[in-house]
Amino acid sequence: MYIDGKTRTCGLIGNPVEHTMSPAIHHFLAEKTGQNLAYLPFLVEEERLEDAISGAYALNLLGVNVTVPYKSDVLPFLSDVDPLAKQIGAVNTLVRTDEGFKGYNTDMPGLYRAMQSDGVNIEGESVMILGAGGVARAVAMMLAKKNAKEILILNRTLERAQAIEDEINEIEGRHLVSAMSLDAWKELTGEKRFVVIQATKVGMHPFTEETVITEKAFYKKVKVGYDLIYNPLETRFMQLVKKAGGRAYPGLKMLLYQGIIAFELWTGETITEEIANDAYAALLAQMNK
Ligand code: NAP
Repeated sequence: MYIDGKTRTCGLIGNPVEHTMSPAIHHFLAEKTGQNLAYLPFLVEEERLEDAISGAYALNLLGVNVTVPYKSDVLPFLSDVDPLAKQIGAVNTLVRTDEGFKGYNTDMPGLYRAMQSDGVNIEGESVMILGAGGVARAVAMMLAKKNAKEILILNRTLERAQAIEDEINEIEGRHLVSAMSLDAWKELTGEKRFVVIQATKVGMHPFTEETVITEKAFYKKVKVGYDLIYNPLETRFMQLVKKAGGRAYPGLKMLLYQGIIAFELWTGETITEEIANDAYAALLAQMNK
């Protein structure tokens, strides 16, 4: 990477930020597209979030990614918020404008582009989400927008799934989402197979032997398993899906595409499928180091 007086700076604000893969993604994309851009991690303490945002703007940063735990907390400090991010209630990408930073959510479009790239269809599909946290809620909104046929949300705490059911069915004006407890899949009769999006933290490194549903019979109902976890690259959930004859994917491509969409917003570049594939190969190589 060559840095000179014209280098534009982007970065990540969060706590912690030590394990981020985003610098690798953005430096790869910058090199491939000839953009003079540097990307740095910035560890921000909770009480300094507002200072960090105004400081980033004052320092002429081109763009900022926002990660845990600030994706919602940052909203009051932005000059504008994209409608999708407003609906989700969380931003992960800030784009510099003349008035201040405008917030976007590239996680959900990122997941959608990742699924398209993996050949996973949503339109007209019966989809199950495991988990009802912040990401599961956003996934359910994305699935509704992309015309999934039905959305079942299974969660340990039923009330959290019910809150998402109520919210999305209200927006849609029809019964699209059904909340269920984690073992209610046993009541699903028939041969129907689902696209299942694993949106809990269960199975994440270092607890790699864990999975939120352990029964083999469940996995016979899974046509495609999409785990949003990317460390490890093959989760226990994915192994069980594959063992039962389904296809399974990790969340690494979602991570890549949320970065690609942020990069496109910051630079105006369009990242081709070829560059995205090369970037994914580079990420995989880094993960396997
Ligand atoms: P969150 O708000 O903390 O929600 C966690 C969910 O996991 C809740 O539904 C919770 O159930 C469930 N859960 C936790 N421990 C459990 C256990 N022992 N048994 C059963 N359920 C359990 O998390 P989040 O922010 O939505 O993130 C969800 C996942 O998305 C994480 O794995 C994260 O790494 C992943 N993610 C991936 C990307 C990417 O780019 N690939 C981006 C963002 C997030 P209760 O409601 O019952 O507590």
